[in-house]
Amino acid sequence: MTSEVQPTPEAQPESPQPGKGTLRVLQLYPREMNIYGDWGNALVLQQRIKWHGYTPELLEYNVGDDFPDNIDIVVGGGGQDSGQLVIQDDLQARAEHLRELADGGAPMLVICGLYQLFGKFFKTSAGPIIPGIGILDVETHGTDERLIGNVIMKSTEFGDILGYENHSGQTTLGPGVEPLGTVTKGAGNNSKDGHEGARYNNVVASYLHGSLLPKNPAIADFLIRTAAERKYGTFVPGKPDDDYARLAREHAARRPR
Ligand code: GLN
Repeated sequence: MTSEVQPTPEAQPESPQPGKGTLRVLQLYPREMNIYGDWGNALVLQQRIKWHGYTPELLEYNVGDDFPDNIDIVVGGGGQDSGQLVIQDDLQARAEHLRELADGGAPMLVICGLYQLFGKFFKTSAGPIIPGIGILDVETHGTDERLIGNVIMKSTEFGDILGYENHSGQTTLGPGVEPLGTVTKGAGNNSKDGHEGARYNNVVASYLHGSLLPKNPAIADFLIRTAAERKYGTFVPGKPDDDYARLAREHAARRPR
């Protein structure tokens, strides 16, 4: 038998404050594109939106669904090549809308498999070329060498970023994007240039799972701040509880590659 725990009012210090408004977070393709805990990114956004005093609405979009309106933040996770093949046609059908959102400044976080497909294409190591939607000026080539392990990178925007990578695709950046950071541990986009991830407009793309946002709240708050400013003209921050994030960062920084 399951019993439902009723939270006490004291256990909900993050209750939405009247007047701050709603932020709608859309998770893309969680059925196929959600590995190594990527769904946690949406959960972190939900919690931190509450801590900032706004009301979160968490939505999912899967193959064949109606695309919801009025989305404020888009997040997408990683997946196996087989999952990327499953979503490819549907993603192309949504490409124009997603491009409009990205070009218009909507904050987005895409990880690994969807990072690759937000680029120009992913040529898998098995042969098939999966076309991307070209929001990011990057291209990805599958290799026989999987890049696996813990990663630390330096970024000017968000400080040190920590996470975990596991990918066969190696991504190179074109002139239309900036790297998210430079690795000090691990591989990142590829085994050659030391870059990790990509930045375009308010899109943050990274290979890092873990999931990423619990250990990197600065990125979560960037997405939330940007969404609030776009929607309401201003962002009034709350008081997030960062104790666990700090512990997770300390722990992750000590882990071997
Ligand atoms: N299937 C892709 C690759 O292996 C993406 C992997 C992932 O999302 N972790 O490169």
